[in-house]
Amino acid sequence: MEKLAINGGKPVREDKIYYGRQWIDEDDVSAVSSVLTSSYLTCGPKVNTLERTLESYTTAKHAVAVSNGTAALHCACIAAGIKPGDEVITTPLTFAASANCILYCGGIPVFADIDPETYNIDPENIEKYITNKTKAVIAVDFTGQSVKNKEIRDICDKHNLIFIEDAAHAIGTKYNGKPIGSLADMTCFSFHPVKTITAGEGGVITTNDDLFYRKLVLAHTHGITHDEDLMEEAPHEGNWYYEQVDLGFNYRMTDFQAALLLSQLKKLETFKARRQEIVKRYDEAFKNIPEIIVQKEIMESDTCRHLYIIRLDLNKLSCTRREFYDAMSAENVQCQIHYVPVYWFPYYKHLGYKRGLCPNTEEVYKGIMSIPLYPKMSDQDMEDVICAVIKVVENYRK
Ligand SMILES: *Cc1c(COP(=O)(O)O)cnc(C)c1O
Repeated sequence: MEKLAINGGKPVREDKIYYGRQWIDEDDVSAVSSVLTSSYLTCGPKVNTLERTLESYTTAKHAVAVSNGTAALHCACIAAGIKPGDEVITTPLTFAASANCILYCGGIPVFADIDPETYNIDPENIEKYITNKTKAVIAVDFTGQSVKNKEIRDICDKHNLIFIEDAAHAIGTKYNGKPIGSLADMTCFSFHPVKTITAGEGGVITTNDDLFYRKLVLAHTHGITHDEDLMEEAPHEGNWYYEQVDLGFNYRMTDFQAALLLSQLKKLETFKARRQEIVKRYDEAFKNIPEIIVQKEIMESDTCRHLYIIRLDLNKLSCTRREFYDAMSAENVQCQIHYVPVYWFPYYKHLGYKRGLCPNTEEVYKGIMSIPLYPKMSDQDMEDVICAVIKVVENYRK
């Protein structure tokens, strides 16, 4: 057996590979620089083109571009009318922003446990937590795999709840042939550099609902409107006149970010195909390793995978997850853990959330690790990752 690098052996590769990485090419660079020398740095034609392009890409009626994915979620909660004391059901296996956005509005995050095989929120658990204070559900397409849209839609319709989809991982994914972004009442995307395509920082909310759309537009620009139909004092005093009719934020995206995202969008299908190729190779390589559990895919999801997660069966290994992670790191494969259950964080603990709340999540969390997945990986990179996983497993096999 080959000696682990952590014990003084030779690492699988010389240079470090990370779990995710953006891919910026010359087209992206020139798209951004042409905006920098144009008349508009922000609120110009590129943001408008981006919104219209994402409407057609997702087939949603409306898209609103904002400064980041967290702002997208905050705007969605505002548009949903989340008020102090309202309960919103979400998953604990997510980035903190999926729950923080509820707190921004004074709402109460209610964590419903995941399905231990797909790692997405389990619709049956959503139903268990519905009370007369429940206003909305924020479901996360974890790793890019679609949540059970139909089941969640049915529950929301039955109980008169607003369905917000946190699709920060899921641009490019389809559910039953329909693009994510066209299904929930509001869908929020993130374009942070680790996500599938990037604007540097950026977010978008899509919706088919005219009323939500109007509220989203107000929320992301100070609650200010130029639309006479929305004004109280109109007929107005002149073309310069606008009104603040609500309390909103400055969550606008700049034009050069929009230009970058438009350029990246052109490559989304290629990125998706490459991500799927890598996922397929990983699935194949890990299929016959009993110590590794791979994420289950639901049939309805044509997934543009953002993360590839291996779950260690720690009963079959003589190491802890920490030791496995450190060993991978020494082999120069830098993994990451997605995510610490949100309610474990001190901030949530101080709000009164207790460990043990979502047993599936906590059990899954113990063994998970995201290995490198991004379209620019070479075949050699991919084989190195597989090689490192197998090497570490073999060294710690019981
Ligand atoms: C990245 C992410 C966000 C937040 O997006 P930002 O653009 O970083 O603000 C929200 N939810 C999930 C699931 C994410 O992964």
